[in-house]
Amino acid sequence: MGFETDFEKWKAEYFGGYCMTKCDTTCCDMQNVSLYVNGNELAEIYGGKINPENFKETGIKSAKAMGMYSIESKCFCRKFDESTRKCLIYDRRPVSCREYPLLVEKDAVVIKSGCPLTKGDPAYKKLVEIASLYGKVIVKRA
Ligand code: SF4
Ligand code: SF4
Repeated sequence: MGFETDFEKWKAEYFGGYCMTKCDTTCCDMQNVSLYVNGNELAEIYGGKINPENFKETGIKSAKAMGMYSIESKCFCRKFDESTRKCLIYDRRPVSCREYPLLVEKDAVVIKSGCPLTKGDPAYKKLVEIASLYGKVIVKRA
């Protein structure tokens, strides 16, 4: 037991359902957020390596960190199935997809402000409950 265990349980039992059924924006739509990936993750999403000459037309930018990329395609991610609203590579999704929109700090759980998880929702209330058990508050931040 511990915060990480409870937090992961919350993600599986509460937050996944919120993403799937209540979120109108979805972070899989690059109009809302950009996606930060490494080279392997980029190839997984695009079905193979992309020639850097084609980066611009696909909305890919090289990030400051070596070997990292930012996808700013202004459309849904290629691995997002709009009919089911599910990720087609869920078990292999990039690290940033796994972590977004939550950042755990010593005294807080930060929710990125692009995510619409709201105070009134049971998932949010449950997160407050878990966080407070471990002396953390919930903060919304860009
Ligand atoms: S924006 Fe937030 S609630 Fe919506 S799909 Fe992404 S993480 Fe889930
Ligand atoms: S890889 Fe999956 S979880 Fe990540 S943005 Fe694309 S569809 Fe969404």
